[in-house]
Amino acid sequence: MIVVIRPHSTPEQIEEVIREISQLGYTPSPIRGEYQTVVAAIGDETTHANLESLNALPQVEHVLRVQKRYKLASRESRPEPTVVDAGGVLVGGGHFAVMAGPCSVESEEQLMATARAVKAAGATILRGGAYKPRTSPYEFQGLGPEGLRLLEAARAETGLRIVTEVLGERDVDAVAATADILQIGARNAQNFQLLIACARTGKPVLLKRGMSMRIEEWVLAAEYLLAHGNPNVILCERGIRTFETYTRNTLDLAAVAAAKQESHLPVVVDPSQGCGRSDLVKILCRGAVAVGADGLLVEVHPNPAEALSDGQQQLDPAAFADLVAGLQPFLAATGRATA
Ligand code: PEP
Ligand code: MN
Repeated sequence: MIVVIRPHSTPEQIEEVIREISQLGYTPSPIRGEYQTVVAAIGDETTHANLESLNALPQVEHVLRVQKRYKLASRESRPEPTVVDAGGVLVGGGHFAVMAGPCSVESEEQLMATARAVKAAGATILRGGAYKPRTSPYEFQGLGPEGLRLLEAARAETGLRIVTEVLGERDVDAVAATADILQIGARNAQNFQLLIACARTGKPVLLKRGMSMRIEEWVLAAEYLLAHGNPNVILCERGIRTFETYTRNTLDLAAVAAAKQESHLPVVVDPSQGCGRSDLVKILCRGAVAVGADGLLVEVHPNPAEALSDGQQQLDPAAFADLVAGLQPFLAATGRATA
């Protein structure tokens, strides 16, 4: 870390800072300029105390970090891309995965029709919430354990792998017994106890970006999973909240490129929550491929007008098949193969 000392500080005040830096375990190396002194504090910032507390001293102007706050998730720690194996379907490192299915699992008929349709169109992973995080307690909350059972039946028939959301620590074991990938939703992306519980299952985890999370916070949430022994993490950009109301959220494709630059973890894009409008999903998928996303998570429903959640953003099977067919030139142009 670098500690910048205010101009006109006395030699005693400068010595006080140097003493504090040593006490916190760093090796201080003062650089005395004509007007101002800065002290380089040498030591591993991820294992030593945070020197930002030195801002409390009146003679300290500011404290700058040199190292990133994440270690295991960083590109520096692992230059080659992580490839996540979700029950035999690979995501990342040139393997592009199409995940699709309904927002919520609603019934056997609805789920099986969707599973067959998305598989025929080229998806390899079926999405569908058995447990739904709804803004209002009066809205459909998901079928719970019955939804998990239906997802298992869909996998048994189609061979599609399953990604489904886990809402709380209480449900981790039950969801992990069914899922090939545990989805942690935007509203839970910084629920650190839930992250730790999911990490411990050893199952791949798809970590949505919280709707007001900075990229650093998102990667740090992934760091929780890695630090608790689970390297199988997929980041998912799903739009952030901005002043714009034309779309439900603002899909941040720059964050996809940035996250891939910062981290070796695969990054997928959920354009459905990302824009909240079925008419924009196809074009956003093309954008996601173009910026280097490792996969897509798309909401598909056999009859969106009758969906119990997020009907406005779900595609019908024909629109989804058209979307996947139209992606091929974009995938080819960016050197990716679908699983
Ligand atoms: C979803 O995938 O249906 C969902 C609720 O996602 P998010 O957590 O991104 O809002
Ligand atoms: Mn949804």
